[in-house]
Order: sequence, then structure tokens, then C-alpha cells
Amino acid sequence: MATSKSGRLQSPVGRNLQNVVLGDLLFQPWNQSIYPEDLVAKDADRLYVCRWCFRYSCDDDVFEDHRRACEHRITPPGTKVYDHGGYAVWEVDGQDYKLFGQNLSLFAKLFLDHKTVFFDVATFLYYILTFTDPDDHESYHVLGFFSKEKLSWDANNLACILIFPPYQHKQLGKLLMGVSYKLSGWDSNGGPIGGPEKPLSELGHKSYVRFWAERIARYLLCGKTGTSALDPDQQRPSSTPKGSRKRPPRETMTVEELGQGTGMLTEDVITALKSMGLFDPQTSPKKRKSIRTGAPDTTTPEQIVTIQKSDVWDWAQAHHLVLEDPVCDYGFEGLWPPAISPEEDKQSVTSEEN
Ligand SMILES: [Zn+2]
Repeated sequence: MATSKSGRLQSPVGRNLQNVVLGDLLFQPWNQSIYPEDLVAKDADRLYVCRWCFRYSCDDDVFEDHRRACEHRITPPGTKVYDHGGYAVWEVDGQDYKLFGQNLSLFAKLFLDHKTVFFDVATFLYYILTFTDPDDHESYHVLGFFSKEKLSWDANNLACILIFPPYQHKQLGKLLMGVSYKLSGWDSNGGPIGGPEKPLSELGHKSYVRFWAERIARYLLCGKTGTSALDPDQQRPSSTPKGSRKRPPRETMTVEELGQGTGMLTEDVITALKSMGLFDPQTSPKKRKSIRTGAPDTTTPEQIVTIQKSDVWDWAQAHHLVLEDPVCDYGFEGLWPPAISPEEDKQSVTSEEN
């Protein structure tokens, strides 16, 4: 397989695959195929793709033989990191499963236009979303995935995300995005959590803006965050003034504070607030303590955004926001969340009681 120096494979011009069959679902690719020409002929009518390992063939007999013998027929590769309500997420290391990573990338490229598929799969982790029918424990379906660079200089928590076309419009993208933030939150040890790799596709941008807006709305309305790495004191949108029993009708926070509380980048917070019609920045005349740096900012005035909770409620109602987070904390398993020592456990119980 020819790759450029950077490990990227460019799309040949003028190749088109007519249909793809994933398991027993037939649908059309959105983009030109980059499958190797010696294996997938130009303008092939039908490409059969294994729904478990993404191996492919234009020959249905070959495909049938594989389907009966697929090594991942019963269990996906990798380690299960999340399992709740029939949906599970498996972490697959591209180093350990190179062929799986390459075949998944080839298939995904049929539906991801803006990103060049990376074939240096060893540097990526793949998180595949599966569903197991409660009435059929014999097998499972892969519904989509996201990839993540093992070492991202920009602290990206996600490189590519795709829910396969037959499974779209079921809020599954939000589930995967939520999982990506949870995992990077636990990984970050209080450092910046980051966000998806930019630039986003048009569809990706739309999906993320909605995801971020919902995340902020849940945080402002419920005080819940998507991260567990933060100090509980920093998870409040703002403090109720001492001596005051009633919460003020308006609360003030910096955009950075909101980012800290939700585990989101400041730029993503601003994008989301703008989309919600809640971004009305003012410049603070006084110095404020910055949560991010832990020191007073004496150089530049901080940007303050004032949000009325009733406006957040209005947005939530208009957009049919489900207050419950799509990701269930109790669904994580294996290495996630990291084990805590009995000492730390005692402390966390104490702080909860307080
Ligand atoms: Zn297979």
C-alpha cells in the first residue's frame, strides 16, 4: 500500500464505489473510495465489509466464508471501557490491531470527507461503539467509532468520529463525544482536557456545537460536569455570596471558569454560548482571580459573560434537552475510572459529607 511520507494516503480521482454492504445492511458511500484498486475494482457495484472486523471483499462467496470464521465475531478486539444499556465502547490500540485499524479507516473514509485517513494506525487509539441486542447475546453490532492520537501536542481528545449511516440520528454521536470527554478528563490529571481536532467538518461542527451547548446547559442547570478530575469547589458556576441564603437571579463567571467546570476549551465555550444566544460579554473593570492560572490576572481585563438562568431554561425547553447526561458514570469499567486508594476514598467521602 503506497503512502506518502506523512503516512497519508491520498484519494485517487474518479473512483467510485456504488454500494457497500456492512453485515447485512446495504447503503451508499458518501465519498470516493480509497480501497486498493487491485482488491476493489473501479466502479465496483458492491463491496462486502465485515461488520465485526471491517475486512472486505467484492466476492460474496469469499465474504460468506469470512463471516462464518471471523475472529471477532463474538467479541470485539481490545478492551471494554464502557458498558451501559446494551451500548459498549471498546478501546482498540492501533499498534496491537493494525489490520483492524487500517480496515476501519478505509471503511470510515467512505463517509469522512474532510479528513485524510491516517494509515500510521499504531499512533492511534480507536474507540468503537457496539450494541448488543438483549434478546441476542450471540453477537453484536459496531455502530461507529472515534479515533484519538496517543500523543496529541494540541491535547486533542478526538481525531475522527463517525456513526455509520444506518445508525445515525439516534444521539449516538453525543454518547461517543461524552465518552471522549470523560476519558480525557480522567487522563488529564487536572490539566487542560482539550477538544476535538480542528478544523471540524460542517457536519462535525454542527454536532459539536449542539453537544457543547447541551453540556453547558446541563452544567448551569444541574451543576453537573462531564469531568471528575476537577476540584469540587471549581465545579460550581459561581459562589453564592457569603451570608446570602438565596441564590441571586444572575450569576457571573468568566468564560474560562465555565470551561474549567465543563472540561471544555474556552473557544468551544464561546462557540456554544453564541449558538445558544447567551454570549453577551462585558469587560470586568476589576481584577478577578483566574481559576485556570490560580493567580490574579494583572495584564489583561477578563471577559465576563452574564447569563440568566431563565434563559438557559428557555433554551433547554426549546431544544428538548434531556437533563440526564447521555453517558452513565457507572458504565465505565476496566481502567476507567482509575482506582483510588482507601485513603483517597475516605477523603472523598468526607468532602461529600461536608
Ligand atoms: Zn470479520
